[in-house]
Amino acid sequence: MSQKFIPLSVPNFKGKELEYVTHAIETEWVSTGGPYVNEFEEKVCNYVNAKGAVSVQNGTSGLHIALKVCGVTREDEVIVPTLTFIAAVNPVKYLGAEPIFMDCDDSLCVDPYKLMEFCRMECTFINGKLINKRTGKHVKAIIVVHVFGNMSSMDKIMKIAEEFNLKVVEDATEALGTYYTNGIYKGKYAGTIGTVGVYSFNGNKIITTGGGGMIVSNEEELLKRAKHLTTQAKSDELYYIHDEIGYNYRMTNLQAAIGIAQLEQLEDFIKIKEVNYKLYKKFINEIPGLEILNFNENIRSNYWFYALFIKDDFPLKRDQVIKYLSSNNVQVRPIWDLISEQQPYIANQNYKIEKSKTYLAHIINIPCSSNLSTEDVLYVIDCLRNVHNKK
Ligand SMILES: *Cc1c(COP(=O)(O)O)cnc(C)c1O
Repeated sequence: MSQKFIPLSVPNFKGKELEYVTHAIETEWVSTGGPYVNEFEEKVCNYVNAKGAVSVQNGTSGLHIALKVCGVTREDEVIVPTLTFIAAVNPVKYLGAEPIFMDCDDSLCVDPYKLMEFCRMECTFINGKLINKRTGKHVKAIIVVHVFGNMSSMDKIMKIAEEFNLKVVEDATEALGTYYTNGIYKGKYAGTIGTVGVYSFNGNKIITTGGGGMIVSNEEELLKRAKHLTTQAKSDELYYIHDEIGYNYRMTNLQAAIGIAQLEQLEDFIKIKEVNYKLYKKFINEIPGLEILNFNENIRSNYWFYALFIKDDFPLKRDQVIKYLSSNNVQVRPIWDLISEQQPYIANQNYKIEKSKTYLAHIINIPCSSNLSTEDVLYVIDCLRNVHNKK
């Protein structure tokens, strides 16, 4: 039997993408001017119920600007997760600041108890500033990542942030569409609870513009500054007066055209992803040694990525499962290698990294595209089931 290749996560263009892009080209609005950019900002903003949105070239540039408008400078330190994609951390270094690495809990997001412990035990709080005892530096912000479309424990994190005067940057690049269904943040979308939130529209994300991103916030001043910084910090349009060093980070009309068409389908994508997730979960959890990890209970997840946990009693180890599935035309990958152990960050401070190591050794991501068919899902399940039968 020759099985067709099943990719991990690929775009799904079944809406009006071509129609809107064609319109952008026909009207010759292809660059950062053009009506689709503003319209896309407005639509994302309305979808997640934020005060405002500022488009960017990608999630990484969005995080760079988010940290900058939070006032992070080379004097500061920023708390970050170690179990995530490195683009969540590199922007800290773009600003000359230093990251401090935190562990995750069973949600794969930052562990709020360790975060609290770090702030209380390893820092002192003087004159409204959290000071790292080890370095004497001001810990100004925390970046929380809503891993795989799950939601970090924002209720606990926001309390800690309030107590220690930390700015909260939500890396919601993987979590557009995730919101609380219960608790004090009921109805609030990932990205709209902290100081600033960032989405990504990279090709593997739940909706894509090829490359693109969006900054959201409920603070008008921060949004204004973000728009200014992403558009070359021009304070006079006619005479080209620039009052600080800006960036060319604004999204183009072509990207935004695709984005609007994608956003129209987002809720449908989430429905498909939820159905496939539940199908995987039902059958994979019956296979001894395997488990599909849960999303938190008090949220509506966007079900972006599915995490398969390979227990020690499964006949194949993580890397063997990857090899086995690849040879069966199923694209999978391990969860990210820990950032605190990567060459550029090896010297940075980290705090009680334990669970991240366990999850790194045991998790792979399995195909989750919104155009994944039921047959594809059942085929992947069959491959995994066959591991036991073969023995
Ligand atoms: C995708 C992603 C980013 C970066 O987004 P780009 O648009 O690719 O720059 C940052 N953080 C996390 C956690 C991501 O998954």
